[in-house]
Amino acid sequence: MLPRSPRELTPRKVAPLAFLRWIDSWAGIDEPVASTEKRVDWPRIVPFALLHLACLGVIWVGWSPVAVAVAVALYLIRMFAITAFYHRYFSHRAFKTSRAMQFLFGVLGNSAVQRGPLWWAAHHREHHLHSDEEEDTHSPTRHGFLWSHVGWITAKHNFPTRRERVKDLLKYPELCFLDRFDIVVPLAMFAGLYGLGAWLGAAYPELGTSGLQLVVWGMLSTVVLFHATFTINSLAHVWGTRRFQTNDTSRNNWFLAIVTLGEGWHNNHHHFQGSVRQGFRWWEFDPSYYALRAMSSVGLVWQLNPVPAAALEKRLEKRA
Ligand SMILES: [Zn+2]
Ligand SMILES: [Zn+2]
Repeated sequence: MLPRSPRELTPRKVAPLAFLRWIDSWAGIDEPVASTEKRVDWPRIVPFALLHLACLGVIWVGWSPVAVAVAVALYLIRMFAITAFYHRYFSHRAFKTSRAMQFLFGVLGNSAVQRGPLWWAAHHREHHLHSDEEEDTHSPTRHGFLWSHVGWITAKHNFPTRRERVKDLLKYPELCFLDRFDIVVPLAMFAGLYGLGAWLGAAYPELGTSGLQLVVWGMLSTVVLFHATFTINSLAHVWGTRRFQTNDTSRNNWFLAIVTLGEGWHNNHHHFQGSVRQGFRWWEFDPSYYALRAMSSVGLVWQLNPVPAAALEKRLEKRA
């Protein structure tokens, strides 16, 4: 039986639970969070640290056009899954889709190694509820830039999925499975990359690739994707312009919009978070929105929430 509170955990009990949580991230999830102090869960972040270290493997495995193409493709596909689905669909319900598509993009988002869709959506909803207040776990103005970018995700109290915030998603057992065993899809992806690289290396030696090379480039793509995504928590609250007087420090930033496929229009988003579109003006580059429009034209997604005219007009800073 699990101990009742993390405070009661002795070192002998901590170790197995921490390692068990590498596989089953819901293990001990009902235990009360002992403290919301900025305490890093060191045993639990070992895989996260190793993922970063593994990128150095590029020194030994080298590069090939195939490896670079795979890394770029994985970045684009998974950034779209995070931006359009983890964020705009699971967190904000800005459009509708089928249960099969919901699961497919839950899997693709999961492969980005940013944990499960329920965990991601719950933390993000919390961010909008308390934007740049003390309770906002990744506010750069409250908790410092480095903490807002990467520190918060390593904190003990941020590991549990806050299920009370995602009651609408809990009714899907397949999403709960992805969330609970959030390491399964990434491991399958890296195994698949190894198999693809090994096969290409044997069948087409002129391509100059190998199983290990594709795995390392897949990890490189994952780490870059991770840090690009989390610039929206850190940089997009300190760097850029403010069109709307929101009760937070959110900014619009064209550069971040490019690297995140449209998420850089963060001040727009904080002003009206229910819209599927984040670039409110035609010149505000929002490729995830364009892709969702294309998907809606063939019936894969529907009921894309528009930006109401009133939301575009009101609270413009220059008119205030
Ligand atoms: Zn924000
Ligand atoms: Zn949001």
